[in-house]
Amino acid sequence: MTVLVNPTALSNHKARDFRMLIDGKWEAGAADPIERVAPSHGVVVSRFPTGSKTDAERAIAAARKAFDLGPWPRMTASERSAILLKAADLIAARAEELAFLDAIEAGKPITQVRGEIAGSVDIWRYAAALARDLHGESYNTLGDGTLGVVLREAIGVVSIITPWNFPFLIVGQKLPFALAAGCTTVVKPSELTSGSTLVLGEILQEAGIPEGVVNIVTGRGPEVGAVMTSHPDVDMVSFTGSTGVGKLTMSNAAQTLKKVSLELGGKNPQIAFPDADLDAFIDAAVFGAYFNAGECCNAGSRLILHKSIASDVVKRIAELSKAVKVGDPLDPSTQVGAIITPQHLEKISGYVAGARSSGARVAHGGETLDLGMGQFMAPTILEAVTPDMAVAREEVFGPVLSVLTFETTAEAIGTANSIDYGLSAGVWSRDFDTCLTVGRSVRAGTVWMNTFMDGASELPFGGYKQSGLGRELGRHAVEDYTETKTLNMHIGKRTSWWMPQTESRLGRS
Ligand code: NAD
Repeated sequence: MTVLVNPTALSNHKARDFRMLIDGKWEAGAADPIERVAPSHGVVVSRFPTGSKTDAERAIAAARKAFDLGPWPRMTASERSAILLKAADLIAARAEELAFLDAIEAGKPITQVRGEIAGSVDIWRYAAALARDLHGESYNTLGDGTLGVVLREAIGVVSIITPWNFPFLIVGQKLPFALAAGCTTVVKPSELTSGSTLVLGEILQEAGIPEGVVNIVTGRGPEVGAVMTSHPDVDMVSFTGSTGVGKLTMSNAAQTLKKVSLELGGKNPQIAFPDADLDAFIDAAVFGAYFNAGECCNAGSRLILHKSIASDVVKRIAELSKAVKVGDPLDPSTQVGAIITPQHLEKISGYVAGARSSGARVAHGGETLDLGMGQFMAPTILEAVTPDMAVAREEVFGPVLSVLTFETTAEAIGTANSIDYGLSAGVWSRDFDTCLTVGRSVRAGTVWMNTFMDGASELPFGGYKQSGLGRELGRHAVEDYTETKTLNMHIGKRTSWWMPQTESRLGRS
């Protein structure tokens, strides 16, 4: 089902001119701004400063100064937590503005983005709570002469680089935890969708974040991002984006041995057994494949179906796919919005064409949609896909579902694990043993059982293999932004190294 784009919805919208935030000041940047064209309406909706290498260096210097000399790392956790809670309240108060920006810049359905902003508020509050629970360890068991204390200290200056597919949600999976730990930051949003992150900068200033603690430099990866991942004054890089740029990030960071956290691509399987609740599975298969137009690291883009149910299930998924509402992101009934850029739409279409020429069949969709303006893709199901095809192994990042089949549980697990990614997976069966056997054998950071893509601030998220390094969210999320320091304290007279030993001592090199 399609929802035609309402051409008048943005006809009176004046493109918003944003500035970037460096050392507490809002700046326009020296070069011409980056113009963002709404992927749904084809009109310029935002202009972001084109940050330069020098802008990135100035932002890093400000963050370094704010860390080394500023009050932020020295505040009590209670004070930092109060500011994060205030930020959460201010995000909630500006939720509609933030949702509108992500909808028009990324082409995401407005109803969906409202949910993402509400989810972000919860994450900011969760990080505020964790800030007060950050603590180290003590060892009073090392003998009369020793007391050991392990401190958790903020790691320092953190570069945060985010993609376009969940602009506000993803910065919220990183920044509040880095701030909770006492770090200072330089944030670079995607050049396609920087608006909501820049509004977040205003919110954080209003909440009371001191100057230089959060710097937001807009611009392109090879200029701004490259400096943020290689500069010696940066202690850690937290990156979400493609696996290719993730590898580049790691290699840049290796030159000065920065800590790196990477959230990268996925090609996530949903495995269905004949005894599954097929009504629930079919709904989750459609949701998993088309949510966020499939432009989602967690997309359930591979179905691995037991042969005995495959043909019936594909028919029912195709039937349900017809009911999915694709179109105008600003219409509250829309479930699947626009594709991020014309170039990306071409890439998605190329994958579908490639699969067809390798022998896959289109069971539904397969074509681009003309909805009056913007760029859209029909929900697409490809059957007779084999594990060697590119569409079964690579991240298409569009609403394209590849259907593979299996006969034995071992074969299903083998197919699930046969690719380079390992972000998430789903397993569907009413049999507890089947769910646990598959759940324990699939190499992925999250395995859903009889559901798909549910999330909670408390549950860690991240990838195996080439889907990433490290975990976000969960109760250890703040610890990721810390270093540990051991205080080894001697009590009483120390045994001399030069004097004849009366007792054995362990040397430490
Ligand atoms: P991308 O890798 O092209 O860009 C991500 C960010 O990196 C952008 O801000 C970009 O400007 C920046 N960048 C580009 N080149 C750079 C360079 N040389 N140095 C430093 N930074 C650079 O990714 P994208 O197209 O924006 O996002 C889509 C990708 O993100 C998909 O692969 C998706 O799976 C992944 N993603 C992963 C997760 C996760 O949690 N695992 C979540 C969302 C998106």
